[in-house]
Formats: sequence, structure tokens, C-alpha cells
Amino acid sequence: MYDAVGPVVHVGFADPYCPRGRAAALGVEAPEALSVVDGGTMTVIQGPRFSTRAESRRNRADGGTVVGMTGAPEAQIARELAMCFTSIALVTDSDAGVDAESAVSHAAVLEAFSANVEHVGTLLRSVVEALPDDADCSCRHAVDGLTLPFELP
Ligand SMILES: [Zn+2]
Repeated sequence: MYDAVGPVVHVGFADPYCPRGRAAALGVEAPEALSVVDGGTMTVIQGPRFSTRAESRRNRADGGTVVGMTGAPEAQIARELAMCFTSIALVTDSDAGVDAESAVSHAAVLEAFSANVEHVGTLLRSVVEALPDDADCSCRHAVDGLTLPFELP
């Protein structure tokens, strides 16, 4: 929803990610060290912090498969600006909900991130190179027919 001065506008967000970006991400060869999984649902929490065990159980019960802190409002803003947006999540840990004894730690996250960030960078470069021209993408038409309170670039 735009909150600038002008008419209130709601933009469709049923499918938050760009289908062409997703196809590009799945169409490139990922570094061997990465295990790429297609699909999932990101539960976005306000951070930076880790979940409590109760939150972790709730996130899983709600259908969340990964927890992130930076998926929203970025995806909504991109859609409202008719921009393509695709998410690639680097999973670093199992949150707090795997068992009663374990819980994620800052050190464990840094270790997993450090071990994979170079591979994710390689993957991202490949995906960006594989992205098709976005002129005809459905994302670019997300606000067609809506009266916006400002001009899109
Ligand atoms: Zn798109």
C-alpha cells in the first residue's frame, strides 16, 4: 500500500516473487557446494535476533520453511514499484525448533555464512547473467491500470 499523499492504492501480492527471476535462478548451474531447493515459504521476522522456541514452532506450524529478516518489506516495495524481485536464501541454521536442546548461535550462523557466502556470490553472478530482459515480465505490469500518487521511473 502506498502512503504518499494521494489515492490509496493496493497492488496485488499473491505471488511475491518474479517468475522470470525464479526461472533464471533455477536454470543456472549452482556451485557444487550448494544444495539448491526450489520452493518454500519465508517467514519474515523483525530482527536482528533469533526466534524463541515457541516462535520457531509457530513459524513451522504456519507453513514457514525458512526464517528471514530481510524479505519484507523489500518484496512488497519492489512489487509496488513494478520491479522484478527474486529471493535466494542462504540457510545457515535450523532456528530454535529442531529439538529441545539445540538452538542457533551467532557463532554457528557466522560459520555457516562464511563457508557458503563465496558460493552464493558465484550463484548470484550466474543468475544475474542469466536474467532475461524484464520488459515483458508480469512484475513490470503490476501497477498497470492503477492511479498512483507518483510517477514511476
Ligand atoms: Zn519479474
